[in-house]
Amino acid sequence: MLITPHFLTGVAISQGIPETAPAALAAVSSHFVLDAIPHRDTVGGHHLNTGNVVLVLLDGLLALALWWWLVPETNRWYAFTIGMFACLPDLFEVPGIFWEKWNSLPIQKQFHHWHGPILQFAREPVSWGIGLLPQILMAIVAIYFIVR
Ligand SMILES: [Zn+2]
Repeated sequence: MLITPHFLTGVAISQGIPETAPAALAAVSSHFVLDAIPHRDTVGGHHLNTGNVVLVLLDGLLALALWWWLVPETNRWYAFTIGMFACLPDLFEVPGIFWEKWNSLPIQKQFHHWHGPILQFAREPVSWGIGLLPQILMAIVAIYFIVR
């Protein structure tokens, strides 16, 4: 999924779990639950291109803007930390964008195959309309739990 639903889910988890370790574990787990929901989060394929770079930049900015706007100052950086834990599995994929050998290293090879082709790409919707819908709904649910 896009950064915004992952990050906001982590932020929502931080609002309900004040202890860092269980919140971080829940946030990382939430990543795989969200990725298992059929969705679309790339432009023109699963590789580095202008569309995907613009998408990641705008998506990241949206996630940060919503976090800054919705989370009270007293809890802001704890929420950010747990939000980053919710994005952690995708961060492990970033070196593979620039260094192809990364995805052939032991453990990362198996993780990359499971996280991409098996968990997400096999059920990826063809259209952005239906591919974006579950992500918008997840972001709205997360926002509900952040502000309630
Ligand atoms: Zn992911």
